[in-house]
Amino acid sequence: MLTTVKAGPYTISGVSIAGIHTSLHVRELGVLFDVGIALRGMAGAENVFLSHGHADHMGALVSLLGMRGLMRLPPPRLFLPVEIAPSTEQALSLLSRVQRYEFSIRSEPLAPGDERALGPSVNVRAFRTHHTGPSLGYQFFQRVPKLKPEFLGLPGQEIAERRKRGDDLFALEERLELAYATDTLLRVIDTMPSLLDTRVLILECSFLDERKSVESSRAGGHVHLDELLERADDFRNEAIVLMHFSQMYTPPEVHRTLERRCPRALWERLVVFAPTRGHWLG
Ligand SMILES: [Zn+2]
Ligand SMILES: [Zn+2]
Repeated sequence: MLTTVKAGPYTISGVSIAGIHTSLHVRELGVLFDVGIALRGMAGAENVFLSHGHADHMGALVSLLGMRGLMRLPPPRLFLPVEIAPSTEQALSLLSRVQRYEFSIRSEPLAPGDERALGPSVNVRAFRTHHTGPSLGYQFFQRVPKLKPEFLGLPGQEIAERRKRGDDLFALEERLELAYATDTLLRVIDTMPSLLDTRVLILECSFLDERKSVESSRAGGHVHLDELLERADDFRNEAIVLMHFSQMYTPPEVHRTLERRCPRALWERLVVFAPTRGHWLG
């Protein structure tokens, strides 16, 4: 069931159920996070980001490429962990032979810390997540000129004159806009602390109550709500989008449990990426 939410200035559409399929389309950035399911409305995304190689995150890649072919769209840029890039490229070339049609991509293998430009003003940085195999998260940011502190008190006219003279008044500052971290231990917020200051954070929260213990959630490389609540005060984001819920909870249960368990200050900034009614596959 397609879910659409608004988080800060971003519109996020897609489907996300732990172990079944996850694909999230952020329209304003032209990006698709993971391809566990390929829906028609996502096919136009120019930039596709794979978090890791599990089937529920990349199993529908071929369907997506097929749709793009049908729509006569160019190959997308496919950003993925460097460790899984060669076998993904080989798999696509074998499937091209099976189908007698070229499934082409522009492969962008990334390691933690690598950065790429997505357009004139948006950049992306890969960061290490903590799962059962090679995995990455992605942080989107803009570099904006900010007046250096020593010039902060100057009147506007003097700034203009000094600029004309060619004085170096500005330093580039990063504005952290959006980040995606799924299939990871919560310690990702310690290994990548700037996630806590990113405007919109999309974060997995697979398990929500005692039906799954924190230990077994950790053993699978996943976040449990108990852990997140312990760190609730650390999140300074404008919006936190929780996703990748286990199908052991119905969608209305997900909403109810989060509302009941989260402190008000967190709940007010939470965006629950799950339908409000019905069943996951209803
Ligand atoms: Zn998953
Ligand atoms: Zn996984």
